[in-house]
Amino acid sequence: MPGLRSAPSRAGAGLQAPGPALSVPPVAARPLVAFPDPATLDPALGAFLNQASEQLGRWWATAAERPPLPALSVLPEVAPQARGLEAAALLEDLQLVMDGAYNPCHPGALAHLDPPPLTASVVADLVAAGLNNNLLAEELSPSLSRLERALCSWMAQTLGLGERAGGVCASGGSLSNLMALVVARHHGGLQGRSDAVVFCSADAHVSIGKALAVMGLPPKALQPIPVDAEGRLQVPLLAEALEQQTRRGEPTLAVVATAGTTVRGAVDPLGPLAELCRSHGAWLHVDGAIGAVCGLTGRHAQRVAGLGLADSLTVNPQKLLGVAKTSSLLLLADPQRLASCFATGLPYMEPSWGEAHGGECGLQGTRPAEALKLWLGLRQLGLEGIEAVLDGAIARRRRLRQLLEPLDLELLGGPLHLLAFTPRGSTPRQAELWSALTRQRLLEQQLMLSRPLHNGRHHLKAVLGNPHTGESQLQAIARVVAASLQEPLA
Ligand SMILES: *Cc1c(COP(=O)(O)O)cnc(C)c1O
Repeated sequence: MPGLRSAPSRAGAGLQAPGPALSVPPVAARPLVAFPDPATLDPALGAFLNQASEQLGRWWATAAERPPLPALSVLPEVAPQARGLEAAALLEDLQLVMDGAYNPCHPGALAHLDPPPLTASVVADLVAAGLNNNLLAEELSPSLSRLERALCSWMAQTLGLGERAGGVCASGGSLSNLMALVVARHHGGLQGRSDAVVFCSADAHVSIGKALAVMGLPPKALQPIPVDAEGRLQVPLLAEALEQQTRRGEPTLAVVATAGTTVRGAVDPLGPLAELCRSHGAWLHVDGAIGAVCGLTGRHAQRVAGLGLADSLTVNPQKLLGVAKTSSLLLLADPQRLASCFATGLPYMEPSWGEAHGGECGLQGTRPAEALKLWLGLRQLGLEGIEAVLDGAIARRRRLRQLLEPLDLELLGGPLHLLAFTPRGSTPRQAELWSALTRQRLLEQQLMLSRPLHNGRHHLKAVLGNPHTGESQLQAIARVVAASLQEPLA
């Protein structure tokens, strides 16, 4: 865990940051304009923007010198002082926070679904902030509302959801999943039914349970179905559960399939699940927060075959593709259902000249233009670049699997870029101690893996989406893990 201490007050001048000191060149002493001048580019503002970009560029360019997880995070002074700070002081404070930040660009940063950011998406995010448009209403974001709608339609159609398909951006997959279930409930006319249930795999993401709680449903509304040896929802067991549900005359709110489970990257059998849902008239939501982007390329689409059969689909380009956070989409075969469910009327706005205002297509009101960074990032990569990102991630997972296979481990993988493992036959207590100690030894080698509790036992998990991770990191992981298995388990 990173230590936390507060920086001495500015007057104390003790502002030395830990790690490599990145000197901040002086910025013109003129005070910074608080708001952009509408008639001229203030030179001090231009310099501030350039210096901030350079500071960020240096942070990226020195990532390999700092560990994935910083040892110390120094908190700058938090409260605004009586007199506002000048540009140089602002950048200095910013540097303190940057020095204590998680370091996703380090080649050993393999713990979570948080890769280095796609560079064009970072620039687009800065520009989106600068435009300060609001996706709530079209008159507050004329070009961006249309861009979002067109981009969601392109993505939905490319992923196979059909010609009319489209959707909306959301700040994260948890929100996309929540909105999907709210739409499914509305579509089924099940508002106010506390006996409505959602079936999902036992390995479904925690955000599904959270969504049901937010929707005011009791815990038993979440009905987990056991998974097979590959971590996939067992379709015959779901068929049985749906039959029972029909016999009891109780409503099914939705079936949630996962395209990429969080610990091992398993993909539920989407085709058979869609068929089953059709025959029962059940809404199929696919949580493709991790895996859905595979559907964008010919070469990897078969990993998530059947994606297009969903009624609704969550996609998180912030994960495998590295679009700057947050970037998530909720896509629907019939996007009109969003407005049917969420429209409130916006009496203080001019009418929408498209279909519906952004603020009436989801739970969020005021919303940043997250579509901009996704759009620019995808344009930067191109279809070949997207394929190359996926190729690299899958190749690294294969290689790590090959290196770990000879060891005495239980390996949990799937078709995506995740690999989890724990000593074969270990007890929960042994797995807990082994994973804590081994994670520590890996961290000492600047290799950061995560330590999920899965099926009652701790595992180490590598997420191989970091494009900077190479053969030397993979071999180092295998070496540390092999050494850890030489000692008897505690
Ligand atoms: C990450 C994840 C989510 C939640 O996405 P957030 O953006 O973190 O809210 C949902 N489902 C799956 C399978 C995930 O991996």
